[in-house]
Amino acid sequence: MESIQCHLCNGQMEITQVLRYNKSVSILFVVLGVLLSLSVAGIILGILFLIAGVVMCKTKKEVWYCNSCKSIIDRVDKVLQS
Ligand SMILES: [Zn+2]
Repeated sequence: MESIQCHLCNGQMEITQVLRYNKSVSILFVVLGVLLSLSVAGIILGILFLIAGVVMCKTKKEVWYCNSCKSIIDRVDKVLQS
């Protein structure tokens, strides 16, 4: 398994997955979506918020995680390196 050395404690870092977006923001989107969907005028916007919220809840990113000091470093996104 791929691993690097932690720059803080020289411990072993491993790849782990965390949520890409702030969880409370995602939940706020879902709640807003549900509330907006209750009214006829807001149903389209509400569904959009709901979908965005669910996608944000499920989207994850890979980071380097240190087992020793629990520090987390963002991995360089390979897609953005071009
Ligand atoms: Zn460390």
